[in-house]
Amino acid sequence: MNYKEFCQEKLDHLIEIQNLFKQQFDIDSYENWFYDSEFELLRLYNSDEDEVYFTYIPVGTYSKEKQTWMWSWFNDSSIEKNKKKLLVVKEFGIKNQYEKLQEGTFPSDELDGWELTSVCLDFLNGIGAYKVNSDHLDFYMVLTAVEDKNSKSVQQSKQKIVECTQHGFARPGFVCQHLDCKTVSGFHEAFDTYKGMELEEEDDFQAWCDECEKVRAEYGEWNEESENFAQIRLVCENCYFELKKFNQNF
Ligand SMILES: [Zn+2]
Ligand SMILES: [Zn+2]
Repeated sequence: MNYKEFCQEKLDHLIEIQNLFKQQFDIDSYENWFYDSEFELLRLYNSDEDEVYFTYIPVGTYSKEKQTWMWSWFNDSSIEKNKKKLLVVKEFGIKNQYEKLQEGTFPSDELDGWELTSVCLDFLNGIGAYKVNSDHLDFYMVLTAVEDKNSKSVQQSKQKIVECTQHGFARPGFVCQHLDCKTVSGFHEAFDTYKGMELEEEDDFQAWCDECEKVRAEYGEWNEESENFAQIRLVCENCYFELKKFNQNF
């Protein structure tokens, strides 16, 4: 079978599966998407109650600017561990001399995205496929299972991201109760931060005011008393850096 025939067969199969998948989960009813590449979770949602989670395997991205395809296994910025599962597709491509299955990146058009995704869906026994569009990239993924909203990974993913009424989804920051954008109160941090910086897993954006710093210094550390005084609250990363800009007094 040549590559074209092979792909057509897989595409036909994808269309069948995709129709069932869309029906079963009412996929088109969701307005918003969000994916967490650390937990390899795709969230489709309208509100906190109206949502569904899937585990996914990243297939690859199509760059609209460069008009190139890049497999996720070739992409260093793709952090999903399950991308390794795509290597069976690559091996199959080598065996059958299907170039597009074995080259990490190549000039492409939008058709390749669905074709390659359909091949992967078959190899990975996916329950459906999804494409996420951003300004520059189309990101294709194979969905492998629906995930329980109460599962550990969904809970952990939710904790990692906060939904801010002003800024939407962003990373969390923790600030003392005294910090606002009305009175300059000083800004102390556990370590130097800047917006968008990478954080180690054990690190968080954390800040407190001059008064809290006095109490903290009195005890020499954070303890029950100083934490009681600070009443740390959760904000989003954007709010955190607005507070930082306003409250720094030097
Ligand atoms: Zn404070
Ligand atoms: Zn915010």
